[in-house]
Amino acid sequence: MTEGCEVHHDMGILYGNFDVRSQPRTTLAGHILRILRVTDAATRTELATAVGSPLATVTRDVAELVRHGLVFDRHDLLAKGVPGRQHVPVSLNTENFMTFGAHVGARVTRVVVGDLRAEALDFDEFPTPATPHAAVESVASTMARYREMFPFRAVLAAGLAIGAQFSQIGMIDHARLGWHAVPIQRMLAEITSLPVTVAPTAEALAALEHEVAALERRSSSLLYFYIRETVGAAWALDGIVRPLGSVAHISTGSDVACPCGRIGCLEATVAEQTLIDRAVRDGVVTDDEADEGIAAVYRLASSGDSDATNLVRERAWYIGRAVGRIRDVINPDALVMGGQAVTGFADTMPEIARVARERSVLPDLPIRFSSLVDGGIQTTAALYTSLVPVLGDPIGLMHAGTSSQR
Ligand SMILES: [Zn+2]
Repeated sequence: MTEGCEVHHDMGILYGNFDVRSQPRTTLAGHILRILRVTDAATRTELATAVGSPLATVTRDVAELVRHGLVFDRHDLLAKGVPGRQHVPVSLNTENFMTFGAHVGARVTRVVVGDLRAEALDFDEFPTPATPHAAVESVASTMARYREMFPFRAVLAAGLAIGAQFSQIGMIDHARLGWHAVPIQRMLAEITSLPVTVAPTAEALAALEHEVAALERRSSSLLYFYIRETVGAAWALDGIVRPLGSVAHISTGSDVACPCGRIGCLEATVAEQTLIDRAVRDGVVTDDEADEGIAAVYRLASSGDSDATNLVRERAWYIGRAVGRIRDVINPDALVMGGQAVTGFADTMPEIARVARERSVLPDLPIRFSSLVDGGIQTTAALYTSLVPVLGDPIGLMHAGTSSQR
């Protein structure tokens, strides 16, 4: 593990125009926003109970959040005609702010604009440009367009989720794109003048799932797999997300050549593009059908074509085996999987779960498949990444924003 991986604040993600070494943990105000992000409204008393802090402290921070407009009092929710003083609930302001997110995929880049709940307001997609410079330019110009499209919303931050690894502090490596030691966070921050967070996709999604599970007091450790064109895994324990080194080049025993020079690496074996290439090579789909992407293979498999079904089932088998092995090493309380290679063809999910269970020597652990399907998973990964400074230290962020505008 490189030095860069050791430096983490509690979402496990490098971020911001901030020194990552002095990155604060989530503040009380941040915890309050995290709760309000997934709740319609809550009173100060309910918030104090949920975060385990004194009511006076929570009341003070809520007042600050109200002053900055991030949350607002819900007098409209008070019962009418009830005698005595009632507690006024507060809600997250989803109207006046926005963040920008981008998911830079191996083939497609998606740029999104969303509110403080990480709900998308709009998105755009384009083929991922070949160079980091061109990619950052395209992402930034789409974000600039969103500023014009939503002039009445203040933009707080930007985030970039990518199927890459941090090679050193602030630098990413993306083997599929051939990018090495790219300071992508700094590049995007310079163009947009926003606090920018960069996160490996699997880590962003692990952080999201872990946070929701923690709020619901479901599990304390969680292992997340993200699989589409890239394969990523992340492990979250007690509020801290850790990268799992690289799972992309775990040997599967398949005969697929990997760009790294080895044969049978996991990522090369289960990537959507590999499935499409094999379907063309084996005459399962024509070149024209392949232009449609993986949907052509899925359509044939759904209609009962045995060759297409075998391709899809074989991929599920390789995924399930790898997941079972890695789960045994980590032994998490919860196992979550997402990404189009997992959820894109629903029939294969029971197969993945069955193979993973057979491969594991530990007691059964049900796999939870992400409810985020199609592009929704990339949208959410990007927007949740963009919200890291907002949900980490919202008051500090607002103060920094105010002073930088002077
Ligand atoms: Zn490899």
